[in-house]
Parts: sequence; structure tokens; C-alpha cells
Amino acid sequence: MAGAAAPNLADLPFLDPALPVAERVADLVSRMSVEEKVGQMLQLDARQDIEDQVLRVRAGSLLHASSERLELAHRLVEQTRLKIPLLIGDDCIHGHSFWEGATIYPTQLAMAASWDPDLLERVARATAVEVAATGIHWTFSPVLCIARDLRWGRVGETFGEDPFLIGELASAMVRGYQGAGFTDPTAILATAKHFVGYSETQGGRDASESDISRRKLRSWFLPPFERVAREGCGTFMLGYQSMDGVPITVNEWVLSDVLRGEWGYPGILVTDWDNVGRMVWEQKVQPDYAHASAAAVLAGNDLIMNTPGFFEGAQEAIASGLLAESDLDQAVSRILTLKFELGLFENPRRPDRERIAAVIGSKEHAQLNLEAARRSLVLLRNDGVLPLDPAGAPRRIAVVGPLADDAQWQLGDWAGGSGQADWIDSQPRDMITTVVDGLRAEVPAGWSVTFARGAEIAQFTPHPDGPTFPDGQPRMPMVTAIPPDEAAIAEAVAQAETADLVVAVVGDCVALTGEARSTATLELVGGQVALLDAVAATGKPLVVVLMASKPHVLPPSALEAAALLWVGNPGMEGGKAIAEVLLGLTEPTGRLPISFARHAGQLPTYYNQIRGQHGDRYADLTQEPTFAFGDGLSYTSVEYADLTLQRDRLEASGTLVADVTVRNTGDRPTRETVQAYVSDLVTSASWAAVELKAYRQVDLAPGATEVVRIEIPVASLTIVDARGERVVEPGEFELRVGPSSRRETQLTEVFTVVAPA
Ligand code: BGC
Repeated sequence: MAGAAAPNLADLPFLDPALPVAERVADLVSRMSVEEKVGQMLQLDARQDIEDQVLRVRAGSLLHASSERLELAHRLVEQTRLKIPLLIGDDCIHGHSFWEGATIYPTQLAMAASWDPDLLERVARATAVEVAATGIHWTFSPVLCIARDLRWGRVGETFGEDPFLIGELASAMVRGYQGAGFTDPTAILATAKHFVGYSETQGGRDASESDISRRKLRSWFLPPFERVAREGCGTFMLGYQSMDGVPITVNEWVLSDVLRGEWGYPGILVTDWDNVGRMVWEQKVQPDYAHASAAAVLAGNDLIMNTPGFFEGAQEAIASGLLAESDLDQAVSRILTLKFELGLFENPRRPDRERIAAVIGSKEHAQLNLEAARRSLVLLRNDGVLPLDPAGAPRRIAVVGPLADDAQWQLGDWAGGSGQADWIDSQPRDMITTVVDGLRAEVPAGWSVTFARGAEIAQFTPHPDGPTFPDGQPRMPMVTAIPPDEAAIAEAVAQAETADLVVAVVGDCVALTGEARSTATLELVGGQVALLDAVAATGKPLVVVLMASKPHVLPPSALEAAALLWVGNPGMEGGKAIAEVLLGLTEPTGRLPISFARHAGQLPTYYNQIRGQHGDRYADLTQEPTFAFGDGLSYTSVEYADLTLQRDRLEASGTLVADVTVRNTGDRPTRETVQAYVSDLVTSASWAAVELKAYRQVDLAPGATEVVRIEIPVASLTIVDARGERVVEPGEFELRVGPSSRRETQLTEVFTVVAPA
């Protein structure tokens, strides 16, 4: 049917909204040529030649479209034979990343420190409202990768290291994005990515081979994905890695047996960026695009992200018998089903000027953003210097550090200035409150705030082998540290010496964060350690604000500082939230969703490791992390007492019910995150020593006592046995409840799961 004349669309069944979606899909598929079907499976990069993409390739989907190019694309669709509407996606992963003036929230890892699904659901909802207004139907968020190797550049995009917490927060964000369902005009499709095991690549090197068994996938990596698949997450995106020799793009066990088979997942599966091409030019496991395209289709992929060569490749595969035309139909049908369900044939959901004006960067969203920033701050050390006392004697604060007043770096990756979009290079400066701005605005009259940058971090330098690989693919520029600058340090020290308190804001920058930007080390880069050492040597109380996308290995001058606060990339309101917490206008309540290593050689440091090892330390270093999963201080103290179990013998169908008493013994309010871990004391196959199974957050006024009830279904106390089956094994367990994953902070009770009679 290639080149067939345009039908008179008016009376065709697929355009009749009264017909069931399945009938409309079947009708439309029956009218499509091979070329149209192959094109429908392509998601192309709208920064390239849109006319070619829409008119010749008839791509089904575009990503990375500026609003101008989006409008053009819709107009071009009108010139195509069947006028199939486009599905528009983008990475709106902590706000509408590439829309100038949109609300940019803290990054996913920073928000995970709130441990608050309701907050993340509201952030995702507000993001969807902004994104949907601009004509984007689909966000490539959330990330469900388990972050275990801190060297990986994308740790900041994750919810951290714990599968249970990941499941809770991912589920919340999916709910928020997808709103009241696909017909909700403010809903956008969510994406569970990167399916699955992408974060477990060797040495933290991005997209390399991932050495991971099926049993481990079933044990920890698949469960958060299974949860959102069963809850209706509209789309799944693949990772990049190979596992046991098989690129994820053609991993039939993961894609067909597990996702489609066991879970019955009906949604769309999109590859990651050029996965199909990478099998040819990078992984070299397919001889050419025809073979790679055929393999990707047969493995069950629906949308092929940015492999333009798929268009010719898939057609060649059909011509040479590697693929039958009917092999395309399942993927094309799924894509069209989604488009019909979204109502795009009736309303392609183009950008809506009025809604854009009303919702982008709105006051309500700024307020929510501030709440998210406040809740994401994690106080890791405090000798009592914090909170500062606004009612006390006026103070002189010397703010230093390269991140104290760098508005764009504060936002982190995927945020306008981070380089993925060519139509925007920054977010409006006046929407962003840096730490310097925040302190200047929040300190009482009579206090003073000075600022000296004091150090630089890193810069891009051209790669010595040139900007592209021999096959034309772009090569990342190199990142080089900028050495300490004595004059800059001297200026910071001079300001520190005349101050009462130093606030040093250090961390990482976009050059050291993100895809293909894994780091070999975790130390602070550039002149930052020298700066910290120098201001610490003044003897002035030092508050270190670690504005870093991921955990870092910190020098003694930071670890022994008067106070240490990890803030991730805290979004547009970050500086205000940080200033408020330093001044005690709000309380620090964040808890680490990921552990901090003492040394990169200690990796991995995640808390839920498998039992069994000779000893428990390196000859030259403890295995204990600097800060553990769940850690975080308040400005008050909370005591845990009286852990009691309602019953200590339970059947597999039962629920473990426990009460614990928490008492705020200090003089400030707090929101306490009561964490409940379970250890299965003997398992038939090796297993994690302990796992988070539940948590509750309670607000405690000074002096208040609360009895907090924890409920854990016994059915969730599973292991994956040696046959790969998920089972509850009868026997003894420990429930450990406390303020962190550290054993010494927890109360313990033993209970038994009895075998079925
Ligand atoms: C990333 C994805 C992202 C996609 C589209 C890929 O390189 O791995 O996370 O959604 O690009 O920008």
C-alpha cells in the first residue's frame, strides 16, 4: 500500500469515537502500509529534521520538541495520508525540565529523602498539570533503578538503594502523573525506567554489561517494576545494559516471559535512546540494522527510541524474510490503543496558551516546591550550632563555596541548563533562590551575610580524540578538575575570619552528573577540599551544606564540621528552604534514601546486603558507611520504647502488628520517620540480612508521646529461593524498629511464621 492514495477519512471506522477501541485499532492497522507501521514504531528526536520525520518516516512519536517544533509537527501530520496523531514524550523528571519558567523541583533522590509518597504524588500531579498544558503527553519518569554503585552518574535520578522505598515512591509518582486516568486532560503518561538492572553495571560505568542473575533480578530489581506494572503505569522504558551476554533490548526472558507473560503488562515498551542501533555500532551483537530491527521487534519492543535506521532496517528485514509484516502488528496496535485511549484522534492535545499562562511556574507550584525542598533536607551532623537563633545576638555569616550562589547548578541534571535540550540553556534566574539569596532574605535585621565563591569545581575540555567517534556518534568531552586558587581561598578565609559562622556550600556540578558521567572517585572535586580545610582552620563554627547529586566521600573538615546538611539538588526553592532550616524556621526531617561511603573502595555500601563473609571489614578500613540508609537528625531527640507484638506466631496469610512508643524528648517539634525492618533469621538460600518492610511518619510536638502502629503482611516477608520462586519460609524472624537502618538504634522483637497445617 506504499504510496497509496489518501482515503476519504470522514467515514472510516477508526475515526468513530463511538466504536470500541479494539475495533478502531483493528480497522486502522488494516489500512496501514508496511512503511506506515514501521514509522509508527519510531520515536524520533524532534531536534532533527521534523519534516522528514513526519512526512517521509511517518514517525508515531517524537521527543525533545520545543513548542515551535511541536506545533510544526502537528501541522505536518495533517499532510499525511492517515493523519495519525503524534505521541509526544519528554524527560520532565523533576518538573517540566526544558520549559523555560516551569517549576523545577528537587531531584528524585533529594525528594526521596522525604520518604513521603503523598508529597511525591502531589509533585508529580503538579508537574503533569504544567507538562500537559504544553502539549506533552508523556514523561520519562520515574526512575526505579536501585542505586548501589555510587560512582554511577545517574544516582541522583533514582529513589536510592531500597526496593521497598522505591516501590512506595514510584507508585506515588505514577499516580500523580497519570491523574484521574488517560482521559484526564491534565494527565500525562508515566514511564517506569530503566527496565531492569541498568544501575548494576560494572564499576558504575554507564550502560556497560550488568552482571546480574535472574534470581537477583527477581529478588530485588524486578519487584518495584512489578508493582507499578500491575498498578497501571502506562509505559516502561528499557535500560541500555546487556545481562549475561544479552542486550536488554532483546532479552526475551525479561520482556516477554516476565513483563508481558507473568505480569500481563498491557502498556507500551519503549527502548532507550538508540538501543537498536547500539546493538550494531556499540555492543556489536547484530551485524546490521535489518537484523537488529528484526530482533528488537521479535523481542516485544513497541516504540524504538531514536534509531532512525530502524525505518529502513525493519523494512529490509521484512523484505529478506527476517520479519513478517504481521510481526509489527502487535506493537503498532499497542501504540494506537494508547493513542485512542488518550483521545488523541479527537483531540491531539496541542499546547494550550491559556493553560500555559495559568499553570506554568504558578504560585501554588512554587509553594509545593518549597515544601518538597524543606522535606528533602537531611541533617547528618550537628554539634548544637544549629539552629541559629534569630532572637539571639546579631550574627555575621560568611557564605562560601562554588554552589552557594550558582542558580543553574543548584537545579542539577535535566533542568534546562543541563544540556539535553537545544532550545533552552537555563531557567530564569529570578525564579531560583540560592543559599546566598535565601540567607539574605531570611536573616533578621542587623545580621550580615557575605559571600565568596572560594573555589571552582570542574570544566569541560575537548576530548583529545575529537568530538565524535569514527562512526559519527558524539563523544563526551572530558571533565577536568579546576585546581585550588589561592587568591579565591584567601578571600573566603578573610571573610570567615571576620564572621561568627561560616556556611560552606560544596558538592558536584552538571559536568560530574548524569549519563556517561560516572565518576571514578567520590571526593569533592576541584578546589573544594582546600577551601573547606582553609575555612575550618579559622576555627569559626563551620556549617557544611553538601549540595551534591549523590553521596560523596567527605574530608575531615566536613565530617568534623559543626554541622553537615545534605541537600541533593534542591530545586528552585532550595536556597530558601536551606536558609529557613539553618535559622530554625523549619525542622530538618529528611532521612537518607541511600548510604554514604567513606571511600569509593568500600562500594557497595547499601544496607541490605547478603549475609555471609569472612569477617566484617577490610584489613585497612571498616565496611561501615559514613552515613547509613535511613539516617538523619532532627533539632530534637526522639526516644523509642516498648516495641510490642500483637501476636508473635503468625500464619502466612496473617499480618504482623506491632506497636512502638516514640517520645519527643527535646524542645522542638519534629516529624519522625519510624522505620520497620525485618530479618528472616534462617533462609534456604542466601538473603539480605535485613530489609525495610514498612515505615510511618508521625508529627511530634515537644514532649509528645505517640504509640505508632506498624502493620506488615506476612506475605511480604518473602525470599526468592534457589529455584527462583518467591516464597515465605516458615521459621523465626526479627522485627527491628528504629530511626535508621543502623542496628544499634533499633528495638528488636522475635516472631515466628508457622508452617501451614
Ligand atoms: C536516557 C533516558 C531518557 C532518554 C530520553 C536516554 O539516554 O537513558 O533516561 O529518558 O535518553 O532523553
